[in-house]
Amino acid sequence: MADSRFDDASPSALLAALASQLREPPRRRPPAGGFAPGDWLGLLGGGQLGRMFCMAAQSLGYRVCVLDPAEDSPAAATADAHLRAAYDDADALDRLAARCVSVTTEFENVPAASLARLAASVVVSPSASAVAVAQDRRLEKRFIRAAGVDVAPYAEIASAADLDDADKVPDALFPAILKLVRLGYDGKGQARVADRAEARAAFARMGAQPCVLEQRVPLAMEVSVVLARGFDGAVAAYPVAENVHRDGILAVTTVPARIPPALAGRALDAAARIAAALDYVGVLCVEFFVLDDGRLLANEMAPRPHNSGHYTIDACVSSQFAQQARVMAGLPLGSVRQSEPAVMLNLLGDCWAAGEPDWAGVLAHPQACLHLYGKREARPGRKMGHVTVVGPALGDVVDVAARIERRLGIVDRPGDTPRPA
Ligand code: ATP
Ligand code: MG
Repeated sequence: MADSRFDDASPSALLAALASQLREPPRRRPPAGGFAPGDWLGLLGGGQLGRMFCMAAQSLGYRVCVLDPAEDSPAAATADAHLRAAYDDADALDRLAARCVSVTTEFENVPAASLARLAASVVVSPSASAVAVAQDRRLEKRFIRAAGVDVAPYAEIASAADLDDADKVPDALFPAILKLVRLGYDGKGQARVADRAEARAAFARMGAQPCVLEQRVPLAMEVSVVLARGFDGAVAAYPVAENVHRDGILAVTTVPARIPPALAGRALDAAARIAAALDYVGVLCVEFFVLDDGRLLANEMAPRPHNSGHYTIDACVSSQFAQQARVMAGLPLGSVRQSEPAVMLNLLGDCWAAGEPDWAGVLAHPQACLHLYGKREARPGRKMGHVTVVGPALGDVVDVAARIERRLGIVDRPGDTPRPA
């Protein structure tokens, strides 16, 4: 997807080039006043994000049709209809377009060409070109920088020879992380490398596919911004969330983030700039690194609701999933006001190591809200559900969440994102 024509391009030129590459038709919009309850909304993807989207869209009176290849999936189990087909099945896409008035995605790696095809006959958000940017780490970084937001120092690696090129890959880039340009998630498709020799070995192990080599930056903490942007350009951004990752997978989100207001302001501003530059429509998450010296770097973006926004279901007036439905239906954005501080704990399959976890023990804390995704098989590292703890005082919420973590056998690991003291 990326080629040298995109070097130094402005965001709008970059988007236009992608749209023409994808043969994306001009954007269709919902009617004034929005689509009527009872209309069908279409969703590409069947994961937990889709499941929570279905619930939110249904509570607004819409019906949801999920297109997903799996026989049973968290979203299909909740949807009003399931088209079981591959994401690039032209016939299935046409059937989805025939039934639905508006289509969105919960799956970041849905083929952008499928969104472009749907856009010929129905309202689609986010656009194929915005999703294409988020799917390609090279385009994503170029785009974020073009929008005026800093990223960690990196080099684009197309071949093993690039790794030997000291101009392209200076020694100062190490220690680094080698990341596949496409199809990485939850820390998969990544290798931590100490030096050039390790980078060469990792590149070969990862199949010599296009990568970015990113300097490993000293993290003080990680934060994210989830926002919704409507067809009219209206933006509603949730408070900045503070994230702890374990083994590259989000483990804990605390909101509001325990950061100075000026830093929160910079993160919100950067996320809004990226969304505007993408002419983004839908729910967008931007993940950031906060460095020891206070600098803020954008890590990556997700063109969909995000795990660090799950707390919005229990702690905000409108959840990120309700916003996704509102945007695609052409309704006004809901309030992002957070009524109480919240801590969200991800429940990975590891919690099932000794059988079904003690849910009654978790729910004995009345401030705990449990969300399970209905997945039958609990594999280590698999996202099975989450718990959100809410309460009037953040200190107490953090404390209850820590007790729930202990009850579920969730323990800190040496490689975790640092937590503020
Ligand atoms: P996901 O899509 O689940 O967010 P991913 O596979 O796309 O994950 P990244 O977000 O790139 O992966 O990285 C996962 C985590 O690894 C980050 O949240 C951070 O904790 C750590 N990490 C990634 N890049 C760097 C870096 N350059 N320096 C320090 N830590 C990093
Ligand atoms: Mg990430």
